[in-house]
Formats: sequence, structure tokens, C-alpha cells
Amino acid sequence: MQDNKGNTQESVKEVNGNVKETTRDVGNKKPQHNNNKNNNNQNRSKNNNNQNRNKGGGRGRRRQSTPVDENLKKFVAINAEAHKQRLNPHYKLDLNSRDKIRITPLGGLGEIGGNITVFETQNEAILVDVGMSFPDEDMHGVDILVPDFSYIREIKDKIKAVVITHSHEDHIGAMPYLFKEMQFPIYASPLPLAMIGNKFDEHHIKEARRHFNPIEKRKIYKIGNDFEVEWMHMTHSILDSSSLAITTGAGTVIHTGDFKIDHTPIDGYTADLHRLAYYGDKGVLCLLSDSTNSYNPLPTPSELSVAPALDRVFAKAEGRVILSTFSSNIHRVLQAIQYGVKYGRKVAVIGRSMERNIEIAMQYDYIKLPKNIFVEPEQIAHMSDKEVLIVTTGSQGEPSSALFRMSIGEHRHVKIKPTDLIVLSSRAIPGNEGSISGMLNHLQRAGATISREQNIHVSGHASIEEQKLMLRLVNPKFFLPIHGEYNHVMRHKETGMMCGVPERNIYIMNDGDTVEIAPKYMRKVKSVRTGKTYIDNQNNHKIDDDIVIDRQKLASDGIVMIVAQVDGQHTKMLSKPLVTTFGLVADKQDKYFAKEIEDVLEHFLINIKEGLIENQRALENDLRQVVRKHIYRKMKKYPLIVPHVFVQ
Ligand SMILES: [Zn+2]
Repeated sequence: MQDNKGNTQESVKEVNGNVKETTRDVGNKKPQHNNNKNNNNQNRSKNNNNQNRNKGGGRGRRRQSTPVDENLKKFVAINAEAHKQRLNPHYKLDLNSRDKIRITPLGGLGEIGGNITVFETQNEAILVDVGMSFPDEDMHGVDILVPDFSYIREIKDKIKAVVITHSHEDHIGAMPYLFKEMQFPIYASPLPLAMIGNKFDEHHIKEARRHFNPIEKRKIYKIGNDFEVEWMHMTHSILDSSSLAITTGAGTVIHTGDFKIDHTPIDGYTADLHRLAYYGDKGVLCLLSDSTNSYNPLPTPSELSVAPALDRVFAKAEGRVILSTFSSNIHRVLQAIQYGVKYGRKVAVIGRSMERNIEIAMQYDYIKLPKNIFVEPEQIAHMSDKEVLIVTTGSQGEPSSALFRMSIGEHRHVKIKPTDLIVLSSRAIPGNEGSISGMLNHLQRAGATISREQNIHVSGHASIEEQKLMLRLVNPKFFLPIHGEYNHVMRHKETGMMCGVPERNIYIMNDGDTVEIAPKYMRKVKSVRTGKTYIDNQNNHKIDDDIVIDRQKLASDGIVMIVAQVDGQHTKMLSKPLVTTFGLVADKQDKYFAKEIEDVLEHFLINIKEGLIENQRALENDLRQVVRKHIYRKMKKYPLIVPHVFVQ
């Protein structure tokens, strides 16, 4: 078949369900089909041209020109105008409004995680999400990162509420750290509130639960004087997610939250495309949309699509099945449990976050499972292997997780057996590949089989086609791609331009950029302070920046300790200095290195500045500088240098 550009397309017909027959129609060589109207029209107008050119020449086929129905032509123009009105959001905005809204991401851009965004009018503000992120490998002893709250402190009195889209850690994980310092009303659907409540309890700030305002989706909530917020149901890899419609005097801003468009979600609650379309039709000032999968050209499959793979796994498994996934992906866990039960297994849930999330989902009726399918971990040993399904944490190879401890034989209730089948129903979060691979090595060394089933995991984020659908439904005048590293956001910008948003109406934000938007313009107005606070999860306390820097130096360049006794009057050493190093020089070179430092010290004392000998702190500081220079010159290293000088 030929399209109206004259390209050739292939049509594939399925015959008897399995034999495929390919027909290729090349329009120009075959007789025209009746339904190939575009071609007929094109050819006809070509003929007309020929006819005109050949007037009097006597050659070519003569044809009567088709009369033009002026009324039809008028309606083409009318419809073109209707399309313009429908498609150009500019005409739907209140262009006389003098109001503007300012949007400042304090985390979540140029990174994956730590999502937190400030929406501000002249007098009021709301925060959307308060998430945490994970540290880089060189942040030794740091468990999580929490956004820098400096700007929130600055505008504290303007803030009317915290508004939550969904309950992933990168959207709610920093809530207890914020609420230990300052508290605001929290608006969210029930699951995020239940999860936040759990965090408040863990952090001993139970009383912060009094700030909860559970919302009903599709209802508009007035927050402060300036904000109206509606939560619209969204599909994602955690249930009870929402997009937000945030309306101020400047117009409506749609914040997608994290989303994919799942037409067959496990709970049947599809994305509320109708409300998005409603706002799109009414006129949307700006769209902030999830960029995570902006490179993926194939539509993100439905959560339901993992069912056949799960079914195959359980149908074949002979021994125990140990399945690990993100504990927040309740629908994945639910599907795994359902297939386990289908094949006669009982379920042991192992791992703190997994136990807690399943408990919350059942307590609040998000999922319904009979109690008698669950067994305690200590019962596993007395059951036949074919009756056991273990659902557990550790799909990222985290050393503290249950699966990792099983893999190294340190789990109290589960010792890996050669008949075990391990199923990882998750993808590797970038940066975790090494730890996952390490854990798989341990598991295989213990004899277990790893399931390599394809299609046992699907993403929770929209791919290009769904991003397009979102852009077309919402039809915003301005577009801010969010939630992703720089290259993800840039790719999403291209998709936005393909979907009719002019390049000048798209802004690539960095953390801390304040973008001001009014119906007539969008511009960056300032930058505010952003950054990360390091947290030690063992005690939920902050780790100061200098500690982390010291640890990095220790890890990469080692430490040198110098103890010296000095005669204050003659600025001479009283004895050989004591030099100890770790992680800098090999043991067998210790002596040689100590001699070098002794020479440096001697030289330092000869050339010492007047009066320095009386000031121990300044003396040690100067010595540190001299030793640092020496070590850098010889070894190109910057170890920690700890001098102790006793002046007598
Ligand atoms: Zn999410």
C-alpha cells in the first residue's frame, strides 16, 4: 500500500494463525485502488497541470476540471481555525492575568532521586514531594542523601503545605528529616500518608501525623489563599500514585509525578486520562513531566505483562522459589504470591521493608490475600521445598538485605540449597550492577539456579510514546521536563518539540534554578542554594561534610601521623620524630619515609618564623603545609596529615 508521500509500505497478513504472507503493493505500478483517494487526487491534479501546459498542443488526455464547492472550501478554513483554537494553548490562557508562579527544584534534576520542588506565588508556597537519594560509592559510611533545606528555611513562613505525588523513597524519604526541623500540613492520598506515618514513627516523631490531610482524587483542594490542587490518579510501579493539577492566578500547572500509562493495571485503576484531557482542553500554563525513560522508543509494558513469565517460573520450579523485587512494588509482589499459591506454595515474607509494605497494603485494603497462605520464616525448615515461596528484599544486592545475607550463608532462617531457584524481578538501578553481580556469584557458588526469564520485570516510567500522549493530552503552553539526569531531560525536550511545544517555551532546569512563569512568558529569575546532607542510617543522624571529606582522603590517600618533641629555646628536635603512616607507604619503606619526614622537620625548624614556636596551633598548621608539599612533590598524594609537636 502506498501512503500519500508515495512511500511503499508492507502489509503483513496472518494466515491460519501462524503462516505469514507478505504482500507488497507498489502504487505506481499497480492499478489504483478505489480507497487510495490521496493518490487519485494527486494524479488528477498532475493531469490537470499537464492539460493546461499542453493546451493547443493536441497531446495528453483532456479532462474537465472539477468544480470547486466554495461552501466546502469555507468549511476547510473554518475547521483549520477550530484546530488552531484547539491546539494552541496560548488562546486558552488568561492573557490579561498579571499573576505569575515560580518553580524551583531543590533536587531531582541532574540526578535520579531526591525529588523536591517549590511552587511559589508572591505570598505563599507549597512543596511538592520531599525525597531522598542514594550516595555515590566514594561517600564512605553515608547511607542516604537528603536535600539541603536552606531555601525552605528561608521561605518557611510562606509555605502552606507539603503535597505528595506518590510513596517512593525518592519522593517521601526525606520527610522525617524535614519534619524534625519544621512542620507543615501534608496533603496526599492514603498510601503515601501511611508510608510517611511509618517513617515518622521510626524517627520518634509520631506527633507529626497530626499534619496529615488525606485527599480524595478528582476533588479540588484549596491550600492557602493562592493554591488549588487536584490529585489525578496515575499508574506507576507503586500503587496509589497521582499527577497534580496546581492552579494559581497565573493558570494551571500539571505535574505528572512519576508515571507510565498502564491500560491494564493490576487493581483496574487506570490513569485518569480524562482529567488530564479536561485540563488540557481548558488550557494549561505549564507541564512538568517525568523524563526517566525518555530514550525508550517502545511503549512501557503493562504490569500485567509479567504474569506469563511468573507463571512459567512457578510451573517449572522443582525446589524452593526465592523471589526478590523492590518491596514498594506491591502489585509485583501480589502477582508473585498469586502464582506461587496457584502452584501450591505457601509464602514466607522476609526483609523488614517487604514485611512492612505488604502489611500496610493489606491493612488498608489495597490488596486482599487470605492470612493462611503465609508462613513464618522459621517454619520453612519443616516444609517440603516445593511448598515454599520466599518473597524477599535485596534485588539490588544491598549488603544488609535478606537475600544478600542468604547468599553468604548468614541468614538465620534460610540457607541456600542447590535446588533453590532465585528470581530477581527487578532491574539494576544504575550504580548497583557490581553489587548485584557479586551477590549472584555468591548465590551460584552456593549451588542455586538464577532465573534468567525475560519479561519478568517492567519499568514504571513512561517511554517516548507515553510522554507524547501526556504532552498531547495536557497540551501545555510551557514545558519543563523533570525527573532525570541531564541527558534524559534533554531527550524529553526533543519529544516536547515534536509534540508542538516551541523550543523557546521549554526550559531545562537545574537544581536550584527558579523559573518564573506567567501566561505571556517563562524565564529563569534566580538560583537558590541546593546540595545534599549526608545521613547515617544506623542512627538517622547527619554526617558533617568534613567527616565525609576526611573519609575520602583516608580511603584514597591514607594518613600520616607525626609526633615530635622540640626544644623551644633552640628550635631543635629533642629526639627523632615518631612517624606513623597508613595507606600511604609500604611497611618496608616505613623507615626510609620516617627519615625523610625527619629531614623535612629539621629544615622546617631551622627556617621557622619568629614567634611561631610559642603558638602550637599555628606551628602544627605550618608543619602540616610543609609536609603536604613534600609528600605531594614525591608521591602526588594528599594524605591526611596529623602533626603533634610538644615544645619544651
Ligand atoms: Zn516513583
